[in-house]
Order: sequence, then C-alpha cells, then structure tokens
Amino acid sequence: MVATLTSYDGGVVSNPQRLVRPQSIDEIQAILRDPAQFPSPVRAMGSFHSLTPCAASPGTIVDMSGLRQVQRIDRESMTMTAQAGLQSIDAAAALRASGLQFRLNPEIGNMTLGSAACCHSKDSLGAVEYGQASSYLTVMKWVSPGGELREASDEDEPALLEILRSSYGLGGILHEVTFRIQPLQKVRFEYELLHLSELRQEAISEAIAANESLVFWTLGRTVVMQTRNQASTARNEWIPGLRRLFWSRLGATMARGLAVTRGTPLGGVTDALWPLAEQVPYRTLSALGGFSLYEPDKMIDYRRTPSSGRYAFTFWAFPRDEWVANLRAYVEFSEEHQRQFGFRCNLPLGSYFIRHDTSSLLSYSHEGDIISIDPIHAPTRRDRPGWDRFLRAFNEWAAARGGIPLLNQSPHVTRAQVSAAYGPRWQQFSQWVAEADPERRMLNPFFAELLGEPAQA
Ligand SMILES: Cc1cc2nc3c(=O)[nH]c(=O)nc-3n(C[C@H](O)[C@H](O)[C@H](O)COP(=O)(O)OP(=O)(O)OC[C@H]3O[C@@H](n4cnc5c(N)ncnc54)[C@H](O)[C@@H]3O)c2cc1C
Repeated sequence: MVATLTSYDGGVVSNPQRLVRPQSIDEIQAILRDPAQFPSPVRAMGSFHSLTPCAASPGTIVDMSGLRQVQRIDRESMTMTAQAGLQSIDAAAALRASGLQFRLNPEIGNMTLGSAACCHSKDSLGAVEYGQASSYLTVMKWVSPGGELREASDEDEPALLEILRSSYGLGGILHEVTFRIQPLQKVRFEYELLHLSELRQEAISEAIAANESLVFWTLGRTVVMQTRNQASTARNEWIPGLRRLFWSRLGATMARGLAVTRGTPLGGVTDALWPLAEQVPYRTLSALGGFSLYEPDKMIDYRRTPSSGRYAFTFWAFPRDEWVANLRAYVEFSEEHQRQFGFRCNLPLGSYFIRHDTSSLLSYSHEGDIISIDPIHAPTRRDRPGWDRFLRAFNEWAAARGGIPLLNQSPHVTRAQVSAAYGPRWQQFSQWVAEADPERRMLNPFFAELLGEPAQA
C-alpha cells in the first residue's frame, strides 16, 4: 500500500511504496540489501521537517524514529554518542540533566541527530565558533547502500568525514553519531532597532567584533539586531517561554488570521499595520534590556504545533561584506513583487551570521563568513501558490546576486542554481555520490535532478 507523508510545513508530499520503521541496525541492513521488497530509491527520514523533498521517495522511506537511544555521554572526550533518530531537543534534555549542552543548539529542536550530522543546518545565536551542526560531528556510523556497516571519524578519515557531513544520506543510512559537547552555559540576548536607511556595513562588522554572535530580523524597513553574549546574571527569565510560544504557535497563527482580511476593505489597513505590530515585541525586548537563558532553552519543540501555527521559510547565504547592499536590494525586490503579484511574506525576515567554515564539502560558508536572507511566511491554502511563485522569483534574484542555497531549506532550487553556487565542489560531490552508490540505491528524483543523473524508477 502506498503511504502518504506530508512535511511539517505542508510543502512536500511523498507517496512511498514502502514506509518502514526499523528498530535495529540489522533491520536497516536487511532493507538496503533487498531491493525487491524495499524498492529504490531508499531515503532515510528524520522528522520530515525539511522544506525540500530531500527525504522524499516514490520507493522506500526509512523512518528513523525507532532508533533514538542516547548511547554515551563522555565527559573526558566531551562528546555525546546517540542513535541517529533521536531529536536534538531530546538529546539536549539528556545533556542538560548532566549540566552539559551541545556546542551548537539550532533553534529547531526536532531536527534528528542523523540529519544534523549529514545535512545543511544553521544557527546564529550559538555560532560563536561554527554555525553548522555537522561541523561538531566527530564520528559517524552508517549502513552503506549495499547494506555493509561503515564508520568514519575525524581522527581516522577526516577527508571522508568532510564529505559525509553534507552528504544527505546519499552514501547510506546513518545509525549512530557522535557530537562535541560542552558545559551548560547561560547567555544573554539583547536587541537594537535600526532603520534600514541607517544600516552601514562597517557598523555590522563592528557589531560582529563586539559580540559573540548575532542575528538580524527585518520588518518592513526596520532592522532588529539581536546579539548574544555569555551571561553571569539572570535577566527577565520569563521571556524565553513567550519567545518559544511566538515561534511555535502565535506568530504564524496571527499572520494567517490577518490573511482573512485580504481582498476586503480592511486588507490595506492590516497590510500597513502588521509590520508595525510585529515590531512591538522587539521594541519591548529592547526597552527591557533583553533576557538571559540557558543556551539549550532557545531550542523550540514543534511537535505539538497545530497546522494553523506552522510557518515555512527559505534560506540563501550571501558574503557577509555584501549583506547590507543585498538586504536593501531584497527589500526593493520584495516590494516590487508585492506590487506585481499582491504577495508579501507575513513574518519577519531572518538573517543569520555564520562564520567561515570548511568542515564540510558543501559548507555554504566555505569561502568566508556569510549573512543570510531568509524570507519567512505562514502560507494559507489560498496563498500557497503565491508563496511558491515568490520562492521561485526569490531563487532567481538570490542566484543572480551570488547567493548559496541549502539543499534542505531552500525550496524549488534548480540544478543550474545549485551547480553555480557550489562550483567545483558540486562536481566533486557528484562524483563521490556516483562512487559511493554505484547502483543509485539512495538517489531520489530530487537529488537525481540536482546532480544531473537519471532518477530511479
Ligand atoms: C519550523 C521549522 C524551523 C526550522 N528551523 C531551523 C533552524 O533553526 N536551523 C536549521 O538548521 N534548520 C531549521 N529547519 C530546517 C530543518 O531543521 C532541516 O531541514 C533538517 O534537516 C530537518 O531534520 P529532520 O530530522 O526532519 O530531517 P528530514 O527532513 O527528515 O531529512 C533531511 C535529510 O536528511 C536525510 N536523513 C535524515 N536522517 C538520516 C539518517 N539517519 N541517515 C541518512 N540520512 C538521513 C534525509 O534523507 C534527508 O535528505 C527548520 C524547519 C522548520 C520546518
């Protein structure tokens, strides 16, 4: 029987012939060794939170939620080893009970550790060193496309691990991963609001030098700079709960609610007032002097978010030193798009600062520091086609300005865009995939198209 799986934001629907949930490594091996029972392509699935069909398959989908044990927390090597289906928020809770945390705690608590180990990820507010989770991976154990057990570590096979850190399971299914950890840390977030016209690239560089890390939110033409630094004292510790509530429920629910006024006499008024209303929490946070929290508490659990409270987004990375010019151009682009098609994103635009990082072959900050441009939107059934049209137009705009997309977080990217963004590294990756999986057991239509390969039937 064909199953139907829908991704978190509703943007990806997959109908695999087989949906299986192994509980042991032997079962994963048996699945990969038996193409008759478990037709190709075989894709591992974490929590299906990706915004692209990277985990989708018309053949077999392997749901990894049956393998989610913490194996070891090692204080000597400061590492945690766990099964690949464990969600990062559950792993963080286990660490926290021992006064420990991951080196990087991306806000999405539902990303599985398997996905964190081999896919693109980003986190600005924890990015004191690196902003990509896989850069902290030290050991990976997996089952190859032919069903053999494999293992690589940063000590024994650093070059292979570099490829595997952005391999998206195209070299097999990960069952166990080891990440670097550190003692639990309290951090402080502070907020400053600026008008887009006041923003200067030099001031951004100064802010980067003066803080451990930072992220930006743009609402209309107002830019919020959120900084992160270590905290020694508690401040406004009631705020993190509200912040989680905004992102896991309230923000998207309110943004969707406003869509009801579209096409009515109230539509113009709500369109004009919403960016101002969105500023209220940030202005309040700025006036209160921000807040402090234990770093893992910035993770958000979306497991109980109703569909009315869900949002979607895209992410393209741009060279840090061109960000202000790119942001101004983006605001012009999005306003022109609204004039032409009547569509505009209904949640704040995110911009992540991520440091130069060559830990993975497809690192999007391989060439230097980046700051991203991430339109965020809570689509309604009525405006999803408008969101999709916006995403395609944005991809063209971003590609023309030298942006780099993420294979799990930039919907509708084309082969030409990916190939131009990653350059010779894309050719190298393509060659590695062909060698690691000569039978193309793992290659779904999404990756086949991007890599220019024929898809599995
Ligand atoms: C509301 C929301 C907020 C988000 N916030 C962030 C954020 O703050 N930071 C961030 O980086 N991302 C964020 N994301 C994106 C999301 O974290 C990534 O797309 C992530 O890859 C999803 O993890 P997953 O476990 O759901 O993997 P899936 O989407 O299920 O799979 C992703 C890819 O990993 C492969 N894979 C999964 N498990 C394995 C395995 N065991 N072995 C081999 N391959 C495997 C799949 O085949 C697929 O190619 C967000 C997404 C949503 C919907």
